[in-house]
Amino acid sequence: MRGKGAEIMEGWGEAGMETGQLLAAAERHVLFTTKRPEVVMERGEGLYLQDTEGKSYLDFVGGWAVVCLGHSPDVIKRALEEQAGTLVNASPAFYNKPMIAFAKLLTDISTFDKVFFASSGAEANEGAIKLARKHGSRNLGGAYEIITTRNGFHGRTLATMSATGKEQWEHLYEPKVPGFIQVPYNDIEAAKQAVHANTCAIMLELIQGEGGVHLAEMDYVTELRKLCDEKGILLIIDEIQTGLGRTGKMFAYEHYGIEADIMTLGKGIGGGFPLSAVLTKAKYDLFEAGDQGGTYSGQPLAMAVGQAVVSEIIRKNLAANAAEQGNYILARLREIREKYGIQRIAGKGLLLAFDLAQPIGRELVNACMEEGLLINSPNPYTIRLIPPLIVTREQIDTMFRILCKVMDQHIHID
Ligand SMILES: *Cc1c(COP(=O)(O)O)cnc(C)c1O
Repeated sequence: MRGKGAEIMEGWGEAGMETGQLLAAAERHVLFTTKRPEVVMERGEGLYLQDTEGKSYLDFVGGWAVVCLGHSPDVIKRALEEQAGTLVNASPAFYNKPMIAFAKLLTDISTFDKVFFASSGAEANEGAIKLARKHGSRNLGGAYEIITTRNGFHGRTLATMSATGKEQWEHLYEPKVPGFIQVPYNDIEAAKQAVHANTCAIMLELIQGEGGVHLAEMDYVTELRKLCDEKGILLIIDEIQTGLGRTGKMFAYEHYGIEADIMTLGKGIGGGFPLSAVLTKAKYDLFEAGDQGGTYSGQPLAMAVGQAVVSEIIRKNLAANAAEQGNYILARLREIREKYGIQRIAGKGLLLAFDLAQPIGRELVNACMEEGLLINSPNPYTIRLIPPLIVTREQIDTMFRILCKVMDQHIHID
């Protein structure tokens, strides 16, 4: 028997639609949030994406620092197949086996003891914010304010947009969630001055990713840790972009020799599957029943994928590959620095960026895409490179061949 909606499905069958029809349908049915290029991505393998016209793209964006194992890796396929055939969803009210195994793995490889799982980075940061406020109400006489940094990025929920120090968002979706104070990044005096009786935490990225790849200085981080200890407030590090091998170490805090009180993970943790986590110390296991949760917290498919992805990062020592290939990219960038008037080269591992002398980031991104290369421009002066952690030297050479060809056409230094 045909269901009532069966005819609606016609045209979406095996043969599929033409790209033009797909784009027209997208225009009609997909809510506008951002201007997207006139292509439809259909499949991915390793460092490459392919669109519905069969054109391939060498991907140095990696789904926004997400597909750390490359596109459609076997380990994710196998984990999903196996788990889908065993248990898709019990209920957030029950423990399940992959959830327990994955929480153990994450605490084994980090300086944290306990994990809360969620589905997106913003949701993990919401959890971190709630936990910090819980600490404030329990241990600091009701303190709830959280100090964050200008030019940071923490997500797109109302609270995480309020926490994010992005100028363009200053008056968006008002009223803002109260209780966030932004201070300049790498300015310890500003942080010290901002702390008062109502402060419960300081929250920052150790490398500002969306902000254009800016590194926290060693002294700054050491002093922040000291400040938090003195005041009894929590240090929250947002490692959603920097975590799990991206910066050449398993976690960015390892570069600084500090331990944080709360860390959030996202992006690479699921290798493309929606997954995030909040990690904390046993002494901040403060939520009471009903304070925090989520339908998909500890969802078995997500847990199985996370376990498979993180195990693969460890097994293949992809943090070391990120360090090695990142150094190679940095060296190649230094070679072409003068020729193209590059103003700044920054980053660690495979979270890298360079600044142009002119605001032509968008133009370069579009021209590279024409040539079959995906790069990212977080602001008009900056190009960011965040390829999968499995990237090889040959793929980097190919990337530079295309990038230099495009820059030859678009950058003219006298
Ligand atoms: C991407 C990102 C987020 C937001 O993650 P979503 O999964 O988009 O909600 C938060 N913090 C940092 C540092 C990020 O890079």
